[in-house]
Amino acid sequence: MNPDLRDLYQQMIMDHNKNPMNFREIRDATSRAEGFNPLCGDHLHVYLKMNGDRIEDISFEGAGCAISKASGSMMTAALKGKTRAEAEGLFAEVRAMLSREPGMPVNAEKLGKLAVFAGVCEFPLRVKCASLAWHTMMEAIAPTGKQVSTE
Ligand code: ZN
Repeated sequence: MNPDLRDLYQQMIMDHNKNPMNFREIRDATSRAEGFNPLCGDHLHVYLKMNGDRIEDISFEGAGCAISKASGSMMTAALKGKTRAEAEGLFAEVRAMLSREPGMPVNAEKLGKLAVFAGVCEFPLRVKCASLAWHTMMEAIAPTGKQVSTE
């Protein structure tokens, strides 16, 4: 990756970690889920307020490393107002980005700002940090009753 772009991405992740968006509980949430990443110690709650098939509001809170918090921040910003199907489609894009071979292209058009996490695939331990919020959101949107853990 271009070093200037890498610096910009790191700066964006640090900014979102410092001032995360949608970092709160939704008291009248229609669903919620809790996720753990035992390897790093990240622990998040994701709250959803669905209006029919649409995500009217989405938030998260918890404690974790910079990447896990920045991922929750950018995920909630990206998903607010989206339909369930759109959220699942974006989850698939993020998962493809995080699990691809380093150096392979990403679907930047679909990912938008979420492409800041493209470099994370080079660090397998960090992939779990970046994907935790997404796995937790998927459990909230389509509950399986299983505990969400990256292990
Ligand atoms: Zn982490």
